[in-house]
Amino acid sequence: MHNPIAVALLWVTAYLLITLFPLAVVLLYPAPENREFWVDFSVALGFIGLAMMILQFALTARVNRIEASYGIDILLQFHRYTSLAAFVMVVIHPIILFIVQPETLELLNILEAPWRARLAVIGTLAFFIMVATTIWRKPLKIPYEPWRAAHSILAVIAVGFGFGHTLGVANYLSFFWKVVLWSAMILVALWLITYVRLVKPWLLTKRPYLVEEVVPLRGDVWKLALRPSGHEGFTFQPGQFAWITLGIHPIRMREHPFSMSSSGDHPERIEFGIKALGDFTRSIKNIKPGTKAYLDGPYGVFTTERYWDSAGFVLIAGGVGITPMYSMLVTAVERQDDRPFLLIYSARSWEDFTYREELEVIKTKLNLQIIYVPRHGDENWTGETGYVDKDLLERYIPIHRGSRQYFICAAPVMMDAVEAGLLSLDVPVTNIHMEHFNLA
Ligand SMILES: Cc1cc2nc3c(=O)[nH]c(=O)nc-3n(C[C@H](O)[C@H](O)[C@H](O)COP(=O)(O)OP(=O)(O)OC[C@H]3O[C@@H](n4cnc5c(N)ncnc54)[C@H](O)[C@@H]3O)c2cc1C
Repeated sequence: MHNPIAVALLWVTAYLLITLFPLAVVLLYPAPENREFWVDFSVALGFIGLAMMILQFALTARVNRIEASYGIDILLQFHRYTSLAAFVMVVIHPIILFIVQPETLELLNILEAPWRARLAVIGTLAFFIMVATTIWRKPLKIPYEPWRAAHSILAVIAVGFGFGHTLGVANYLSFFWKVVLWSAMILVALWLITYVRLVKPWLLTKRPYLVEEVVPLRGDVWKLALRPSGHEGFTFQPGQFAWITLGIHPIRMREHPFSMSSSGDHPERIEFGIKALGDFTRSIKNIKPGTKAYLDGPYGVFTTERYWDSAGFVLIAGGVGITPMYSMLVTAVERQDDRPFLLIYSARSWEDFTYREELEVIKTKLNLQIIYVPRHGDENWTGETGYVDKDLLERYIPIHRGSRQYFICAAPVMMDAVEAGLLSLDVPVTNIHMEHFNLA
């Protein structure tokens, strides 16, 4: 099916059907007699909550086909909100029981309660820790890598114990049907975990890359160039990204996402522009040519290619947010694209504009206007300075706002301000595309 909206709707329908499937089976099954409405309601919440928890494994498994319909930003937002919704259901489920059947409060006594209740308490606790450490990861100063490892382990505990609890509670469904129903869902989740943790890393080892060069660029950014070793590499849509594993085996799952900055049509040499910001990115400058690397990609929907019929493009970049835009521009040059491109590019100072010299060359080969916006200009600077706001945008974007597609990639504050500015200038929301570099 090639209609992207139809495909996206299909995934949503599949999600709803799978979430509600356990409930449907319970409804079709002869209902237990004399069951109070609130007890049924509580059980329904528990069932839906568990099904939604299991589906999180599919949302985060980087299934290309799902990702290609929405993009990683939307998928992760969906993952966040549906996890919160599942958490609320899982917590309300026992609270209702405690209210309508106060004697069930005894089940909280973990030392004496039956094992099915203990499983529920431990699973819910794991779920709570997972949610809390995700929401407050930065204030709690938990580094990304340990958080990610703990997140995966807690997810398996929460779902596994929730599953055990459901099997242990005998009131709904016969034991046989319960085992069939939940086992099918758990098996899919287990397959996804095995695929992500073992099969995919193993497949990546079959397609290694070698570091060809590491070159310093303006703005504390390093160009990392990779060459496929023993295979042809991949082509990509300009603006897309890949997960890089550098110098270690992919099974260790210490991979980082970076937008490709080179032409999407040149799989024989794939380049990245990496800003030295944290532990991994600061280590790039020490990487030696010949180091083994692995690329999981391409991913992402932040690409001009999806809008092949657009009359032109407005690219708005802040700092290292230039990398996907740079890929769009070099690819456009190679394809002799004659449509108008407008690049509004902000950086700390004139010296910090990564690819500055390269962009000047591109300008001679493409219908490209570049507006540099340094935070402060020196005494000789006559161009724009400060922040990219509504007034600045209004001076440069075309009068027929809807005739262009707008791409924004920058720090979160700038992205929000630019998006608000574009919307207030009547740019249709469907023409605005954003790539967030901070996933979690
Ligand atoms: C789609 C996408 C494209 C990106 N493209 C570029 C690019 O072209 N150039 C560039 O310089 N940066 C890019 N980034 C950002 C880059 O991935 C992070 O700066 C880098 O992973 C930080 O790692 P660190 O260990 O150096 O920093 P840390 O100080 O450890 O982390 C800083 C923050 O980066 C995020 N982060 C850290 N590790 C990971 C990880 N393994 N996976 C995901 N997020 C992580 C976390 O939010 C963390 O708080 C991109 C990010 C995304 C999501």
